[in-house]
Amino acid sequence: MLTDKQLHFQFPTRHKPGKNGTSAGYRLPGWLLVLTCLAIATACRQGVVHTVVIDPGHGGVQKSTPDDKWDPIQKRYLGSYLSGMSTEVNGKRVYEHIEVLKLARRLHVWLELTHTDQGWREFLALLKKFSDQKSFQRIYFDSSLTRTDSWLDHELDADDPDVNAPYRLYDYPDSKSGQMQPGRISRINQLEPELIVSLHNNPAGSGHSGGMAAVLAPAWGTFALIRKIDEGQEPEIRFLRTPWAQTWLITDPGWSVFQAARADTWVYFHGYRTTADGSPDRSKNRGIRQNMVQWSYADKPGWEAKYNPDQRGPYAIRHADFQASGPFFDRERSRFESWRRSGGPLGYGGDNHYASDELMRFAQYGFRTLAKELRTDGAIGPINPPYTSTYSLPTFSNAIVAYLEIAYLNRKRDRQLMTAYREELAQSLAVGIYSLFAGLELKPRAWPFVPDGSAINFEKYGRYFRDVSE
Ligand SMILES: [Zn+2]
Repeated sequence: MLTDKQLHFQFPTRHKPGKNGTSAGYRLPGWLLVLTCLAIATACRQGVVHTVVIDPGHGGVQKSTPDDKWDPIQKRYLGSYLSGMSTEVNGKRVYEHIEVLKLARRLHVWLELTHTDQGWREFLALLKKFSDQKSFQRIYFDSSLTRTDSWLDHELDADDPDVNAPYRLYDYPDSKSGQMQPGRISRINQLEPELIVSLHNNPAGSGHSGGMAAVLAPAWGTFALIRKIDEGQEPEIRFLRTPWAQTWLITDPGWSVFQAARADTWVYFHGYRTTADGSPDRSKNRGIRQNMVQWSYADKPGWEAKYNPDQRGPYAIRHADFQASGPFFDRERSRFESWRRSGGPLGYGGDNHYASDELMRFAQYGFRTLAKELRTDGAIGPINPPYTSTYSLPTFSNAIVAYLEIAYLNRKRDRQLMTAYREELAQSLAVGIYSLFAGLELKPRAWPFVPDGSAINFEKYGRYFRDVSE
């Protein structure tokens, strides 16, 4: 049952042109294959195909014991299953994982409209609400959802060992056969997307009025700098002067931003957080995360046998003994990762930051375009500063990642936008995704947070996004 569910879950909506232009993923009857090839050939004559993964995250249930981040060394889960936030409204719980799935499904429907001429006419009518352009480049979106349901749709109880299996972020062993199964990150990488849109909701703290925010993972240069500061080779002020110091998430009360960034930096390097004084915290192991997903950048099979945390090398716990070597760190030092995660149009965060910021701006612009009553001051919360850490998805997935905390679900204003204006939000994000690939000249508006409308230069990445799976 699990295997079936897993298979269904892996490619729920896949109809992606393969590397040689044929359809991959499904086993199709011959005649259907011919038709599919014809359809895609026609598509390629008239426009371009772009691959997008829409990721509503979560989907599983919170447990009292660790249930994600399977460590192949200790053969146990290192982290809690992150089931997302929820909030109480008039005696009823509203769940992030349910609301973002509804939004993701509508966004997926809008992207899929581009597959047919009739659908494209509908998509075009939507684009024309945003832009007075005379012509629009035809794009075919090959869109996939990372999930189409949640644990509530299955028969398994909350304490069943398999309840979170289809929704785990990292790879995990099948509870019966012990065979490793792909988690969400591996499944996303198998789809070789160009763009991932992760949709989340955040809880607002007291005094916080809500809005929206991006989630970012910095690139090699930032972590390398923090390591040098940690080793006394650079002054702390060099980090504090970067924009990252303004946005880094501080999870330990009383810690400085540098203490927080240093702890995350060592998770990035060898998995162990640091204590307040900067020494490795052996009670807080997050694992060799790049080897906990299936992709081209994991260490070679059999790495577990070479794992020795007390020996100089890529797994050493002692900071002075740690060497950032292997396929993952080669990737990290590449220009592709630098483009993806550092510098870029906004000065930091690379194309990931730009994509996230643009989609939030499209949400703002789209709400006001499609629902006139939202044009009044204060009807929509602001775009807040990003959250920064060594987040898993933007680090270990290999595409432009727009990771959005699109609303603060415990704020009424945001909740209304997520529910009563879900369709407008989905449409606005669909137009934003179009703009990231084709660019869009927006109708001039004197509104806050107007999008830039420039496309990302996806061409400069060459085959990089496709070379992620083995
Ligand atoms: Zn979330």
